[in-house]
Amino acid sequence: VHRNPGEAEFHQAVEEVLMSLGPVVVKHPEYADAEIIRRLCEPERQIIFRVPWTDDQGRVQLNRGFRVEFNSALGPFKGGLRFHPSVYLGIVKFLGFEQIFKNALSGLPIGGAKGGSDFNPRGRSAGEVMRFCQSYMTELYRHLGEYTDVPAGDIGVGQREIGYMFGQYKRITNRYESGTLTGKGLSWGGSQVRTEATGYGTVFFVDEMLRASGEGLDGTRVVVSGSGNVALYAIEKIHQLGGTVVACSDSDGYAVDEAGIDLALLKEIKNGRRGRVSDYAAARGQGARYIDGGSIWDVPCDIALPCATQNELEEDGAAALIRNGCRIVAEGANMPTSPAAVRALREAGVAFAPGKAVNAGGVATSALEMQQNASRDFWDFDYTEKRLEEIMRAVHDRCLQTADEYGTPGDYVAGANIAGFTRVADAMLALGVI
Ligand code: NDP
Repeated sequence: VHRNPGEAEFHQAVEEVLMSLGPVVVKHPEYADAEIIRRLCEPERQIIFRVPWTDDQGRVQLNRGFRVEFNSALGPFKGGLRFHPSVYLGIVKFLGFEQIFKNALSGLPIGGAKGGSDFNPRGRSAGEVMRFCQSYMTELYRHLGEYTDVPAGDIGVGQREIGYMFGQYKRITNRYESGTLTGKGLSWGGSQVRTEATGYGTVFFVDEMLRASGEGLDGTRVVVSGSGNVALYAIEKIHQLGGTVVACSDSDGYAVDEAGIDLALLKEIKNGRRGRVSDYAAARGQGARYIDGGSIWDVPCDIALPCATQNELEEDGAAALIRNGCRIVAEGANMPTSPAAVRALREAGVAFAPGKAVNAGGVATSALEMQQNASRDFWDFDYTEKRLEEIMRAVHDRCLQTADEYGTPGDYVAGANIAGFTRVADAMLALGVI
């Protein structure tokens, strides 16, 4: 804490992982001897930079840009960029730290990183967003490359922003180096299923949790928070597998739709018009109601998927879920459940699965995009989705097998942390003191 003052989210993420590692250091004293844990908590490189740009009124605006290259023992740095006013070093470091273990858990050859800016895209014109992205990349490009560091999207960064940044990267370097950014459009080096990957992967993971007890998603009642990239495609896959999503949200409030969210309408409002969940409820009419503010976790469900942002599900939300008989909470977002809420859920016997396992499908499909870029190939949708599904089922099994091996059967938190940690730690040992 004294080395990284004022970075509450980073402290929370580190503590969450360290709490699982007791049995690992007992079994593997070589990790302690090599100071693996201390080295893991220190990013390999942190870049903080000025991002000046001009708004539509001709005024100069200023934001702060970040890229934390956390660990490259397993492969090039890999992790998304977040544009949101809440972004500061502590958030970028928490996300970058999580990313190390998630990427390791995916079984793919990618290191961990994260970046972003305190830029707020809300209410900004496409021209303003483009000028911001160009300025951001004008500094960051020198740190990137397919063998070095490969960013992707996150909150506030979708295909449009990736396009503006890739365009600027290409212009500055005079190289069509597709493998430098993932989340690209299909006609300019992107991969099928990348857009859907995090949401679909989340649901494949939950399906596997249910299968372990001989059940499936068919007939289940699900609440999904958020209405961005992860939420939309989680809703889509749940509906495809026979479940019903009855509520979703944004940072203003939530909508309840007992008949099941009309996804075509929601996508049209969110992606087409950049509208709000309140617009969805109004357009849907009688069937749906909108609650301004409030807690989406008050809506009764069998399965809850927090897919919006960190610490969005706190103790009172957990208490409501438990009271209403929720059986599974799986994190589509990164660290959306506060430590107290996780404790309460687990004590009440709710099956809980952490983001670093559940939402690994996004980065895994980014790695598949890198594979296609490297081989100048383009896979079809069905094949790519099949690969994603196999990866998610393997991540699930890796968590459970590791939990068994370390004496905590059924514990997805311990399984994910230990499996991710040991893969990175072994690579760090092999690479020497660097
Ligand atoms: P988006 O920007 O597409 O969507 C974020 C959604 O969350 C928006 O609907 C936003 O609403 C909502 N939201 C933000 N803050 C709150 C809040 N306090 N309460 C309720 N809703 C809120 O981001 P993504 O869907 O890409 O990312 C969501 C989460 O998933 C993040 O934690 C991200 O790190 C994680 N993730 C994303 C991956 C990806 O591939 N995209 C991969 C792995 C993890 P509003 O419009 O009001 O801001």
